Amino acid sequence: MKDIQYFAPADVGEAVKLLAEHGGRVTILAGGTDLVPKINYYELSPDILMYIGGLSLDYIKDEDGTLVIGATTSTAKLATSDLVKEKAAALARAARLSGSVATRTSATIGGNIANASPAADLVTPLLVMDAELRLRGPSGERVVALKDFFTGPGETVLRPDELVVEVAMPVPRGNTVFLKLGRRKALTFAVVNVAVWLELDGEKCRDARIALGSVAPTPVRCLAAEALIRGKRLDKTSIVECAAAAVAETHPIDDQRASAWYRRKASAPLVARALAQAAGVEI
Ligand SMILES: Cc1cc2nc3c(=O)[nH]c(=O)nc-3n(C[C@H](O)[C@H](O)[C@H](O)COP(=O)(O)OP(=O)(O)OC[C@H]3O[C@@H](n4cnc5c(N)ncnc54)[C@H](O)[C@@H]3O)c2cc1C
Repeated sequence: MKDIQYFAPADVGEAVKLLAEHGGRVTILAGGTDLVPKINYYELSPDILMYIGGLSLDYIKDEDGTLVIGATTSTAKLATSDLVKEKAAALARAARLSGSVATRTSATIGGNIANASPAADLVTPLLVMDAELRLRGPSGERVVALKDFFTGPGETVLRPDELVVEVAMPVPRGNTVFLKLGRRKALTFAVVNVAVWLELDGEKCRDARIALGSVAPTPVRCLAAEALIRGKRLDKTSIVECAAAAVAETHPIDDQRASAWYRRKASAPLVARALAQAAGVEI
């Protein structure tokens, strides 16, 4: 086995300096729940590991109506935080349904995003809350909307000398819901996951966002489906039509978890159920 250099910087400035000094040779290690299995199975052989758990990026704050979450905040903390449960219910639910007690304890929000799995559970709720990422590199901070971050499975616009430091999102006025279908009820990756955000005006939908995971090379916002219900009364007919439109915006593949056919079949009722739940409508 080759020697791996290991660094554990104590603050973001030191981490950025190490990234700049060593160019693209540094692999960031957060909770390690995605990275370490890849190393163990010889899919990845890093030269330099940089552990970022000591950067003081473990926090959840409400900054004047913006929910700000540090990149190394654990999934367990998201699942149990009263602030997240109150302001971003779908994110708390997604965190609760992600992995097991053991993985949630070390897994981080930054790792779930940067790993760029199409099935990442925290990403769909963050997409419907219009989250943005604060990235730090040698030339300072840049902000990237989460919807523009992913370029393919495992691929993002993050530069080799940058790290994700924070996730920020406006606290939504309406309701958010997250639902996940896996091959079993717990400790399972999503065959499909869905998050919706609805702002209601009586029985009508004032505004909507819908995101689906594990049904395309990256998690997807379903813009055409959202447009279909904006300004409309939410009832069984409009919800079912909207769910069908959302599925039309996906590009699922066959893999070890499910076939593309099954993913399409399963997505429609999952989206409809999430919309109905967010709207408080029986379907
Ligand atoms: C048994 C098991 C079950 C799981 N179940 C689920 C599940 O149900 N749902 C789900 O979504 N995921 C699941 N996962 C995957 C994993 O737990 C999550 O994706 C987790 O949030 C990854 O975070 P981490 O801190 O462990 O990332 P790491 O493994 O440390 O890193 C993952 C990747 O992101 C990069 N990275 C990490 N942090 C940063 C940062 N701040 N800036 C830039 N790059 C960074 C790393 O370099 C690496 O490439 C599971 C994993 C296991 C082992």
